[in-house]
Amino acid sequence: MTTSICKEIEVPNHYSLALAGIPSDGIRDLDPPKQCVLCPSAIPFSKPKLAVKEGDAVQKGAVLFYDKARPTIRYMAPVSGYVSAIEYGPRRVIDAIRIDVNDSLGVVENPAHTEASIQELDRDMIVSLLETGGLWRTLKALPFRAIASSSVVPPSIIVALGDNEPHSPSASSVLAGRDAEIRAGILALKKLAPTVHVVAHRSDTSTQHMLSDLITVHADGDFPSLDPGVILHGIKQTSDDNSAWYVQYQDVIRMGQLLLTGEYPSEIVAVISGPLVKKPEHIRTIEGVPYKHALAQLPSANARYLSGGVYTGRLSTREGSLSYSEYAVHVLSERYERELLHFFMPGAQKPSYFRTFVSALLPKKQSEASANLNGGVRACIACSACPDVCPVGILPQFLAKALYNNDIEGALDLGLLDCAECGLCSHICPSKIELTAIFKEAKQRLYKESMV
Ligand code: SF4
Ligand code: SF4
Repeated sequence: MTTSICKEIEVPNHYSLALAGIPSDGIRDLDPPKQCVLCPSAIPFSKPKLAVKEGDAVQKGAVLFYDKARPTIRYMAPVSGYVSAIEYGPRRVIDAIRIDVNDSLGVVENPAHTEASIQELDRDMIVSLLETGGLWRTLKALPFRAIASSSVVPPSIIVALGDNEPHSPSASSVLAGRDAEIRAGILALKKLAPTVHVVAHRSDTSTQHMLSDLITVHADGDFPSLDPGVILHGIKQTSDDNSAWYVQYQDVIRMGQLLLTGEYPSEIVAVISGPLVKKPEHIRTIEGVPYKHALAQLPSANARYLSGGVYTGRLSTREGSLSYSEYAVHVLSERYERELLHFFMPGAQKPSYFRTFVSALLPKKQSEASANLNGGVRACIACSACPDVCPVGILPQFLAKALYNNDIEGALDLGLLDCAECGLCSHICPSKIELTAIFKEAKQRLYKESMV
């Protein structure tokens, strides 16, 4: 079902990624894990300050740590239990907080509301409820994708009902039975900004049917057509719109749960997928679940774990977990051996943008992604492939050159701040240049400079 007032956007440049290891549709309910592991060091732009120490008892919904620079940005315990370990990395960054689950400790209770009473709340009250409840952290501001500042009123908030990065959770599965929660969450967001863009993918008829009265934008095209930066590129009217906020739809559901129940919502629907996962599937579990609990069989050696997304996720290890706002773990092959005469092999299982391998002639065939670069980084060969896949019309090869020459003005003119950090240019670059990492690092540097 569609509404006539919807904006329509189509991502002109995209590249269809058909990766092996697609999760099955049904959701498997996991047994509760005995331990949860949260990873403060994985949070970009944040200086975590501990609110607990080893041995402390914590209730579900209690503060574990907060941002030293902005103490109202809090991170909560997803379970009740005892802090069994706090692990530090280089320069004393907090790599992991481990909580041994003990349900007898009770939960932190916040005020509970109805849809009608949320309607009566003003902006300051919503800000306070989300900060106190530990979900303000889920609101991010473009173009830097840092946590939003509650003292700023953004031009709009973008909520994409889905994520079409390969092997992300299916929006219709996640949203099933969550009508009241997503509506309560969107109602709260409407108190924070004059406009909330609710975006559904054109092919997702189930979500369109369920939330037809809320949806304002239809997006079409493959990944990353549901990325907030790409959506903004398609709908923005003026440069003032560039500072829009966004929030993942599962986090909007959780905002609704927090407001309606008063309890910190730690349940998530996630996928476990990738070529090394024996049974790729959707799971219903809790924030902080260790991989070893979620995966029936943990791939051992030569495996790369990515938490959050095949192209946009963070690198983790087999000891890792699904930390805050991470809804997928992918396990890829970490092979580095050179394949003898690999250009002469048919490569039916290999992803191929340049039609180098037979897989390019098999459009329906799913390819096995791996971390193997088959050699080192080479110089740009000016093949012009990267602009062809960029969803926001950037010329990545020239942008990288400007940054290499430390020409920040030139990089801004070339659209650095529009970069959606989608990873496609890096993925297809035949010279293996880590274009996305270069752009992401430059944006983070600019953000830090803008904060001093
Ligand atoms: S990561 Fe590359 S392809 Fe993606 S938006 Fe940025 S420049 Fe374009
Ligand atoms: S894809 Fe790589 S090699 Fe080709 S133009 Fe872009 S940066 Fe250069």
